[in-house]
Amino acid sequence: MDMEKDPVCGMDVDEQTAVARMQYQGKTYFFCAWSCKDKFEKAPEEYTNQIDQAEMVRQVGEAELSEVVAEGKWDFEKIGSTHQGD
Ligand SMILES: [Zn+2]
Repeated sequence: MDMEKDPVCGMDVDEQTAVARMQYQGKTYFFCAWSCKDKFEKAPEEYTNQIDQAEMVRQVGEAELSEVVAEGKWDFEKIGSTHQGD
């Protein structure tokens, strides 16, 4: 049994009991609630790896961005915590 992450709220969602699911760019996303699915439907790029690069630059700065991209760390929470050490 796999636990999937709700891309909107970050909750772990059981595939079997997920309230909603949606296919996006060949991947199936699972949601804990319809409200999460609605948000995802309106702006899927905000919740997947298709994050706006300009937004990334604002978050982490130009230099760190290439490092982040290289390491595949498209996670604002992680970036935020590593960035605090400066
Ligand atoms: Zn959710």
